[in-house]
Amino acid sequence: MTARIIDGKALAREVEAQARARSEALASRPGGRRPGLAVVLVGEDPASCVYVKNKTRACERAGVISTEYRLPADTTEKELLELIEKLNNDPAVDGILVQLPLPKQINPDAVILSISPEKDVDGFHMLSAGALLTGRRDRGYRPCTPAGVMKLIEASGVNPEGLEAVVIGRSNIVGKPQAVMLLDAHATVTVVHSRTTNLADITRRADILVCAAGRPKMVKGDMVKPGAVVIDVGIHRDENGKLCGDVDQASVEPVAGALTPVPGGVGPMTIAMLIDNTVLAAERHLA
Ligand code: NDP
Repeated sequence: MTARIIDGKALAREVEAQARARSEALASRPGGRRPGLAVVLVGEDPASCVYVKNKTRACERAGVISTEYRLPADTTEKELLELIEKLNNDPAVDGILVQLPLPKQINPDAVILSISPEKDVDGFHMLSAGALLTGRRDRGYRPCTPAGVMKLIEASGVNPEGLEAVVIGRSNIVGKPQAVMLLDAHATVTVVHSRTTNLADITRRADILVCAAGRPKMVKGDMVKPGAVVIDVGIHRDENGKLCGDVDQASVEPVAGALTPVPGGVGPMTIAMLIDNTVLAAERHLA
């Protein structure tokens, strides 16, 4: 058996096309306009610059107006908070994205909390987290990476209901919200992390395995249940400078039933869900 490769790029283009139709519908209403996304980048971290460029291109494809704010690496927290305040009050801005990581003099928690919950299209604000946990789909925004993972699982043709799902990682932006979304989809969910002692015994039970540990190629074929859907969230450069994920694709591909590639899996879907959230924000603001 060889795993079916789930094409995240093609799925992302479908999500973006749907977003474009909604964005055009908003623009053609009386008093309407296109959705607006403000992208804030502090410093020149090379990976962040690539992510911001990819997000800007996706906005163009989806008919979303994106405006970039590039600030120097020595920007103070106060200066960044002042910019966010300005964007919070700008009626043309539906969504605000502050690219992480931030330089060390800036506290990311303070920045995330300063974004108006109405414009929190990354879904990192505690109001969005609370809305997800309490099942309030009318409030807040779902974090983009786990929301994209749910669409990739759906595209694999597997319904999580009644299945065993295992999430590796418990971060606020991926692992924890992922577990809640899988629970909402009626899977039986286990979250494992760096203190888990019998990791492989648990991952081998998973019908759906989401790998978000941030450890290059740590998930090997002998940790995977035959036929499982394996979603690789990690992004790294291997020893040859090639992009790779948390999954050792070579040993997992012969075992899994379906597998996301790196690149071309979760990455493009994360951006597509950001666009989806931005259009949703504009729909709410124009309602
Ligand atoms: P974090 O570093 O915040 O969290 C990693 C989690 O994995 C932690 O909960 C940690 O456990 C756990 N972990 C670390 N090592 C192990 C291990 N050996 N065994 C089991 N669990 C382990 O990372 P993020 O959640 O932010 O991101 C995870 C990965 O996904 C990264 O590679 C990141 O680059 C990538 N990413 C990709 C995105 C995309 O668009 N494709 C978007 C966001 C992230 P503990 O809590 O105990 O420390």
